[in-house]
Amino acid sequence: MRVAVVGAGVIGVTSAFAVKSAFPSYDVKIFADAFSPDTTGDGSAGLWSPYLLGDTPVDNITRWAGRTHRWFEQLWKAGLSSLTGVSLVPVTRVTSDKDNVHPEWEKLVYGFHKVSDEYLRRLNEQHKSNYKQGYHFVTYTAEPTLLLPWLMKKFVTLGGKMERRNVKRLHELAEEGYDLIINCSGLGARELIADKTMTPIRGQIYKVKAPWTMQCFLVDDDDDCNYIIPNMHSVVLGGTHQEGDFDRSVREEDSEHIYKGCCRLMPSLQASQIIRAWVGLRPGRPRVRLECEALNTPMGREFKVIHNYGHGGSGVTLCWGCALDVVEMTRNLKVPKLNSKL
Ligand SMILES: Cc1cc2nc3c(=O)[nH]c(=O)nc-3n(C[C@H](O)[C@H](O)[C@H](O)COP(=O)(O)OP(=O)(O)OC[C@H]3O[C@@H](n4cnc5c(N)ncnc54)[C@H](O)[C@@H]3O)c2cc1C
Repeated sequence: MRVAVVGAGVIGVTSAFAVKSAFPSYDVKIFADAFSPDTTGDGSAGLWSPYLLGDTPVDNITRWAGRTHRWFEQLWKAGLSSLTGVSLVPVTRVTSDKDNVHPEWEKLVYGFHKVSDEYLRRLNEQHKSNYKQGYHFVTYTAEPTLLLPWLMKKFVTLGGKMERRNVKRLHELAEEGYDLIINCSGLGARELIADKTMTPIRGQIYKVKAPWTMQCFLVDDDDDCNYIIPNMHSVVLGGTHQEGDFDRSVREEDSEHIYKGCCRLMPSLQASQIIRAWVGLRPGRPRVRLECEALNTPMGREFKVIHNYGHGGSGVTLCWGCALDVVEMTRNLKVPKLNSKL
């Protein structure tokens, strides 16, 4: 079977790698106009944490995120951290919201517990804030700038192929003889398949050098809450999430908000060295789209499409769980015999 994967972000690369691993005899090729380090995930810290997923059913989120968490655990335990960018990190999240108590995914992470009132009081004093509750847990970061090159190398070793190309229509790949197209085009689905429910959720961050920072701290409050996430060679300071905003340029006012806000949370960051400011557009959608569709070329030839896009602020968090579903869908496909090379 010939399989084309459109997209080389964290969703495309994990899907391609999972399918090629599960079906070694399949001819699997990634088509993308941007590869790492130029994909959306490359600027992210890759923190495992479900975020900005619209009304995606909770059962799906916990299944995909749980499988991804277990995959990160395997990579971490296998001693592959320096190659894959997977690190184990302590996280503190606080909020001024009284209602937001227990996230559904609390059992998936390690040691989830609410912070004490005394700790909250001290934080509020230090941050001049009004947090009403908070929780601690331990989870993983998987830095896409390391994870993606590692996965692409493994994919190529298995015989997978890659081509830099802007795909205008899915039909063009079907006309070239692909039986199955896995659509992992992220925000690109707006043009590629005219999915106008796709919305950019603009995120601006700083990457700084502050190797003394060993802990994640996130404020879950408004649109522009601050967060601090350490990676292996840098610390990501955030951030913004501006819906419907296509602007990829770094804005001075956002830079100021991020730097000042994070220094207020962790004053030692004033001594950090700025590596870069960066903007990415999260692929926002009312809900993640992971489903199979049968289409026809203008010549009447049927081909199958598995859509896997719209992961909002959680592409890294959900990637492996979604890739495993893609494998299952591929296994269950009834591809017309004539097109099958098996
Ligand atoms: C500031 C910021 C911080 C974030 N932090 C986190 C975090 O800590 N944890 C987390 O889980 N998530 C985080 N995210 C979200 C995460 O980065 C995204 O959900 C994820 O990167 C989306 O991956 P993707 O593969 O779907 O899309 P993308 O990475 O955008 O990849 C899309 C791919 O499709 C290709 N493509 C599109 N259209 C076409 C076409 N017509 N022809 C050819 N190729 C095409 C592109 O070239 C690209 O290769 C963050 C995002 C931002 C912006």
